Amino acid sequence: MARPYNFCAGPATLPEPVLAQAAAEMLDWHGQGLSVMEMSHRSEAFGQIHHAALARLRELLAVPPEFRILFMQGGGLGHNAIVPLNIGRGGKVDVVVTGAWSAKSLAEARRYADAQAATDTGPGYTSLPDAASWRLREDAAYVHVCSNETIHGVEMASLPAVDRPLVVDASSHILSRPVDWSRVGLLFAGAQKNVGIAGLTLVFVREDLLGQALPICPSAFNYTLVAEANSLYNTPPAYAIYIAGLVFDWLVAQGGVAAMDAAAARKSQALYAAIDASGGFYANRVDTAARSRTNVPFFIHDERLTAPFLAGAKAAGLLQLKGHASVGGLRASLYNALPEPAVAALISYLHHFQRHHG
Ligand SMILES: *Cc1c(COP(=O)(O)O)cnc(C)c1O
Repeated sequence: MARPYNFCAGPATLPEPVLAQAAAEMLDWHGQGLSVMEMSHRSEAFGQIHHAALARLRELLAVPPEFRILFMQGGGLGHNAIVPLNIGRGGKVDVVVTGAWSAKSLAEARRYADAQAATDTGPGYTSLPDAASWRLREDAAYVHVCSNETIHGVEMASLPAVDRPLVVDASSHILSRPVDWSRVGLLFAGAQKNVGIAGLTLVFVREDLLGQALPICPSAFNYTLVAEANSLYNTPPAYAIYIAGLVFDWLVAQGGVAAMDAAAARKSQALYAAIDASGGFYANRVDTAARSRTNVPFFIHDERLTAPFLAGAKAAGLLQLKGHASVGGLRASLYNALPEPAVAALISYLHHFQRHHG
């Protein structure tokens, strides 16, 4: 029986071949007589899994050698605190507030630094002001952006050029497009959107930013110590690293980031076109140039139709389309692992629902 399509914002859909391989290897990984969950993180077997995942990731995103890649815990929200503890130097931090996630990053950075909003498009968060208009302080330790706002559906088409280290929260669209590393100081992403399962956070840190953690930074969250220990400073999220490795192999087989980039464009353009062509029955409120290719929040003109829409979608095999509680309405997340036929099925359901309620 075919599985339904899952549009959840996170934890999100995984490639079916990855789930099948994980199931097949659950009791016995490669003849070791053990599940990956039961292995020492210092064993040779786990070492293979770890190094293969790291190498694949570096290759997929063409990560230059001056960046260290760390496999950590803490999640996106954890790293909102861990970043200022590591590179804020207790000084000034400028945060570009373009949605709920960067707003949370600002609130958290304020606990450890003199953090200030360089711009704030709230409370609606439907636009992206030009970088030239941001209020950046010359002596800020870094500038923080969220390159894809998962809740509000706002995505930066490219990373801004700023003359201080740029910190990027790319949790919800990493691996959906190439990264311009020349603009990045540090980039992090929780795994449960586009990489794998919850528990793993990817951190890419430029080497010159290491070695300046505040004394109060917990050692397990000190990027320098974690880098020196090759992400084995303490027990890493071993099973989540294994799943991420399977996803990286799957991505390579699909044609890598270039193929995902093209698919993200096709999937999102088709969905926005259907919404925009509905004569106002459905609406997405984000400025066209700022629309996310990964998370598409939308509304039905009469919000009383939202509940029947969701019930009918579920019956049609289209799961988890409810909007975030703070925004309401609906949201479709179009991550790498969501196949193109899922978007086609959603678009036919949009038409079907409008015919019956329009
Ligand atoms: C999901 C998400 C987070 C939070 O991740 P947690 O792992 O729940 O802490 C942070 N930033 C963005 C952009 C996200 O999409």
